[in-house]
Amino acid sequence: MTSSTSRNQSAEGASGYLTIDLMALRDNYLLLVDKAPNRITAAVVKADAYGLGAETISPVLYQAGCRHYFVAHINEAISLRNILPSDTEIYLLNGLQPSNQDICVSKNITPVANSLEQLVLWNTKAKSMSEKLDVIIQIDTGMARLGFSIDDIQHLNHSDFDRLNIKFIMSHLACADEYDSTHNTHKLHNFIAMSSAFPDVQKCFANSAGVLLGDEFIHSMIRPGIALYGGAPSGSITNPMKPVVKLEIAVIQTRTVPSGTAVGYGASFVAPAEMRLATIAAGYADGLPRSLSNKGAFYYQGTRLPIIGRVSMDSIIIDISELPTNTLKLGDLVEAIGTYQTLEDLAEDAGTISYEILTSLGSRYHRNYIYPDDFSAPEILMKKNR
Ligand SMILES: *Cc1c(COP(=O)(O)O)cnc(C)c1O
Repeated sequence: MTSSTSRNQSAEGASGYLTIDLMALRDNYLLLVDKAPNRITAAVVKADAYGLGAETISPVLYQAGCRHYFVAHINEAISLRNILPSDTEIYLLNGLQPSNQDICVSKNITPVANSLEQLVLWNTKAKSMSEKLDVIIQIDTGMARLGFSIDDIQHLNHSDFDRLNIKFIMSHLACADEYDSTHNTHKLHNFIAMSSAFPDVQKCFANSAGVLLGDEFIHSMIRPGIALYGGAPSGSITNPMKPVVKLEIAVIQTRTVPSGTAVGYGASFVAPAEMRLATIAAGYADGLPRSLSNKGAFYYQGTRLPIIGRVSMDSIIIDISELPTNTLKLGDLVEAIGTYQTLEDLAEDAGTISYEILTSLGSRYHRNYIYPDDFSAPEILMKKNR
């Protein structure tokens, strides 16, 4: 294990603590497996497993039975291949860039072909080989981001993919988090119609929110991301997932200020009366967006401590007047995400989504991973760290 993944390590004096509950992660994976019985439950671990550490998260999912992993970028796929056993599939959502064909072959990485250009690049590579190469074909059901259009599909020639083994046809929902959206049913019908060009190929459609839309969205394989990490898959229903992330920030200074005191950059807050303030050791460089200025809050044992003034790069000032005098002192921790404030609460105050908060948390917190008791790293990891 690298130092950042050592077990239950405590590091006194850190300025912030990011606790990542891998037992909750595993339970979330198993809950999703239950939603897709006898189908494949893949895991989306792109962007370093949404900022939580793909190299730590992925082996835990492996032990829970996960064999199919999605990443976005080639460097993510390569580092994942170096730690996962060979009975796993690693899919590259963004697909091939010219010149990545060799590394995909040598590392057994399966690209998603999002366009004819990408499909032909891969098929051409396959022509130089004795065996067919695996691929996923993505079709665009109305997002205009990645994937073949209806027109592209109709104009595909067999010779564009004659050396490829199409493992799945996939598509992605643009509005899956809107539970009632008729949009989704419409997209599902598009998907079924468009994929009928490949009648014998397995289908993969649902992200986290899609899984909750109903059985007809499940198909052969689901690809959840945010739900694994405890994020609410859908804004419209109660979050069924277990929280994975706890974030606490240390107090670095407290003070009492008289009425009329200007607080923070730009003096955007002026104390209307005498107040007690604390400065805490994280800021926008730690994924607490500047949009939380004069808006968001932290919690101490259930008491809401509003952010006042602007969020700085490395610190934030909070109003602690609600707490009994001398409650908070240097080194004490306040909660940003945890019992009193969910990931979604924080994201909402910041005017963003849980995905952006998680992937922005950065590397300055002390990370404490809580492992399941029965966790043992896959053989390949043991070798690497010997
Ligand atoms: C990121 C991503 C996912 C995972 O989505 P969640 O909403 O996090 O479950 C699935 N499919 C594609 C194509 C993605 O880009």
